[in-house]
Amino acid sequence: MNNTLTIEDGIGNTVYVPDFIRENVLNLEGHKYTTECPECGATAIEKDYDRNDGGCINSYYSISCTACDYHDCDDDFCGTCEAVFDAEFGRNDQLFEMAGKVDLMLDHLVDTLATQKHVKASVITEMKLMLLSDSELPALFNLIYVPRGVSNRRHIQRQLLDAKFNRNLEEKINQAKNEI
Ligand SMILES: [Zn+2]
Ligand SMILES: [Zn+2]
Repeated sequence: MNNTLTIEDGIGNTVYVPDFIRENVLNLEGHKYTTECPECGATAIEKDYDRNDGGCINSYYSISCTACDYHDCDDDFCGTCEAVFDAEFGRNDQLFEMAGKVDLMLDHLVDTLATQKHVKASVITEMKLMLLSDSELPALFNLIYVPRGVSNRRHIQRQLLDAKFNRNLEEKINQAKNEI
């Protein structure tokens, strides 16, 4: 009786699936084949299987490659897919946070230049290194914080030069006021 499989018959009745069907028609154990990985060409495992989803027998298909971690399937409850999704989501979160940090550093430099003649070169270097610390970060920073068609380098230069220019202008205005 351990292997007894029941399904809903569609009108609310639970019916037992006869052993004959369970053993010969349904594919609950799953079949495995080897196939070529569509991503890297190594030998991947292709699987098809049936599952009893709350009284409904569904057929699923999956392909997994251990060489490059390629995975694809049509199973909504797949643990592998969930893990891949979580990893990508976590990574995106991290990238957004880093892009935000670079922008904050730039803001801080601009604020500093409003009152001081110079900022430490090391702070600017630190900001640039942060921006280059991940190969995907420059593009994301550019997309979020930089006007369209402007490079990161130009954006940062422009911000710092504008800050200097504004401070100089203010200084000159104050000087002129004092001379009057
Ligand atoms: Zn592969
Ligand atoms: Zn999957």
